[in-house]
Formats: sequence, C-alpha cells, structure tokens
Amino acid sequence: MLFAHYKNIMLYCIRCNKLINPEHKKCTCGYKKLRLAEDKDPVFLVTKNYMYGAMLQDILSKEKIPYITKPVREALAFFLDRTTFAKNHYFVPFGALEKAKELLKYYFTEEGVEEVDWHT
Ligand SMILES: [Zn+2]
Repeated sequence: MLFAHYKNIMLYCIRCNKLINPEHKKCTCGYKKLRLAEDKDPVFLVTKNYMYGAMLQDILSKEKIPYITKPVREALAFFLDRTTFAKNHYFVPFGALEKAKELLKYYFTEEGVEEVDWHT
C-alpha cells in the first residue's frame, strides 16, 4: 500500500529543526526546501525552565538520548533571577523523538505536554 507508512513520514526544516507534516509545502519559517527527516536530525522536543530542565537532562542522560539546548531569550530574565527564570529549548535526534516524548509524559505529567512555538 502506497500510504501504509504515510503517517510516519515527516519533512524536516534544516533552518529551524522543525518537523513539518508532508501536507504542508513549507515550514512556518517560510523555508521551502524541506527534506525527509533522518534519525540523526535534531528536532525540537520541549521548552523547560531551569529547574525542570535539570530534571529533563538527568532523564535523557540516563536513557542515553543525546540532546542539545538553545537558550530562550526573554526580556523578563534580565530583571529577575536568571537561574530561576532561564529557559531552554531542548532538541533530540528524530530517531529518539518518540522515546523522548514518552519519557516527558511519564515524568512531567503536567509540565511535559506543553507545546511551545520556539521561534526566537
Ligand atoms: Zn523552518
């Protein structure tokens, strides 16, 4: 069947590390040269503040899921305690995304489900 695995096919924007549904012709950033996502591609997982981020890093390390972080620039952080309010975007390899999402749901019952659009 041609569409047997259709739902598993995702396109990837190399400019902002986002997965794009194949129904869309371009990324929300406007980038059009999307390619199929590969297992090693870093994709956006979640945005976490300092405290939950530390927990998440612990969990990912234990599960041997590599991750990268990008700081969220927030005006508020300049006025308030940086360590408390600093937030990071977390990225994991596409191949480990499903596992990482399961871990999020398991460990962060409320916090884990937030979907943040992380364009900065
Ligand atoms: Zn993009």
